[in-house]
Amino acid sequence: MEVPEIPWTEEVVLPAGRTAVLVVDMQNDFVHERGALVVPAAAATVDPIRRLLRRARAAGVPVVYTQDWHAPDDAEFRIWPPHCVAGTWGAEVVDPLAPRPEEARIHKTTYDPFFRTDLDALLAGRGVENLVVVGTVANICVLHAAASAALRGIRPVVPQDGVSALAPFDQLFALRQITGLYQGTAVRSEAGIRFEKT
Ligand code: ZN
Repeated sequence: MEVPEIPWTEEVVLPAGRTAVLVVDMQNDFVHERGALVVPAAAATVDPIRRLLRRARAAGVPVVYTQDWHAPDDAEFRIWPPHCVAGTWGAEVVDPLAPRPEEARIHKTTYDPFFRTDLDALLAGRGVENLVVVGTVANICVLHAAASAALRGIRPVVPQDGVSALAPFDQLFALRQITGLYQGTAVRSEAGIRFEKT
């Protein structure tokens, strides 16, 4: 099978005042070795995401976190083993990426972080036009986040080294969908994303 071409971008400059970073589900259950539903490739994205967050915060770009946040008997557990039960260690963001006290955390019960949450209002209130999306799982919650943002007129920007999936195919599939279907921007590396103070 051939992998169809993905239109990669090497460098993108984003206006700080019209951009936010969304860190998707970098929670212990998905990322930590003792997690309940580990995505093995996720650990390698922690450092690239840290570097991206450092630059974003320095430029005054808001950082928003999503957390998968399930009831103990959530219907999603018919598809996946139990994970990210509300209030548990597994549902916390991994220590190296811990949110700052002033940064928003969106608790979500489905793959879509806009569904029954405040994310829409939060981004609209800040005039966000570009959303840098990182985290896991690339073809599940990252893809739904990027898609839902795009359908609201917000351009998703996704660095390849900031997103992880259970299979390499799934990661590339997500980037293919995000660039093709949703007119998003796939950047080779987080290092190619710059924030310009506006
Ligand atoms: Zn879940």
